[in-house]
Amino acid sequence: SLMSKISVILLCGGRGTRMAVDKPKQFLEIQGKTIADYSLDVLKKIQGLVEIVVVCDPAYRSFFSNDQDTLPLHFALPGVRRQDSVLNGLRAIESNPDLVCIHDSARPFINQEMVSRTISAAMDYGAATAAMPIKFTIKEHDGHQFVKNTPDRSLYWEIQTPQVIKLELLKKGFEHVIQHHLTVTDDVSIVELLNLPVKLVEGSYNNLKITTPDDLILADCLLKQISSYG
Ligand code: C5P
Repeated sequence: SLMSKISVILLCGGRGTRMAVDKPKQFLEIQGKTIADYSLDVLKKIQGLVEIVVVCDPAYRSFFSNDQDTLPLHFALPGVRRQDSVLNGLRAIESNPDLVCIHDSARPFINQEMVSRTISAAMDYGAATAAMPIKFTIKEHDGHQFVKNTPDRSLYWEIQTPQVIKLELLKKGFEHVIQHHLTVTDDVSIVELLNLPVKLVEGSYNNLKITTPDDLILADCLLKQISSYG
């Protein structure tokens, strides 16, 4: 069929050490719903979805127990680095999808439109990520808190998730990364290292990554605003 088969890897493996609370940030609630569930509710509506692999500590599997009855949802164990968690998720994929959609559960404000845009671009180009042009000025520093250089900000986009990559490409990329002992901070980097194209797709300035306690307050405000617009 024309519709691509898509497996989702939802990353919930971080321990949220910057949050200073008793559980990882993705399991904190904003307005009665866990941060991870905001993404899950969008991702489960993907057209062509064949499975969702949740990468999380076994202690937190119960946060997803209701979804296991209604979704093709299963679990993988987190790894030390983010990329190790993604690899564990990749290895846990049971179906044979065309595309793998990787998403950080710390970004609850995705919507179906940006997810669809990213998926379509990955179908066309092999790999795509949600991103936005930066609105601020970036300075390179010298390691001693002095400015070294000011790059032209019109050349830079901030990278978000979801990131969507063809299954075969992601597998090939991981072989390369493992062989050369490389560390990457996002998933499309794996495709860049193969010298293959990665398409930047418009995400949203609202697609913030919840990292510190301040972000929770911001997220709460943002959610009130988003829901008031329906
Ligand atoms: O730590 P950081 O905020 O960069 O994590 C980004 C995302 O990756 C989060 O959703 C976190 O849960 C996940 N992660 C993971 N395994 C790790 C590190 C981070 O699943 N080892």
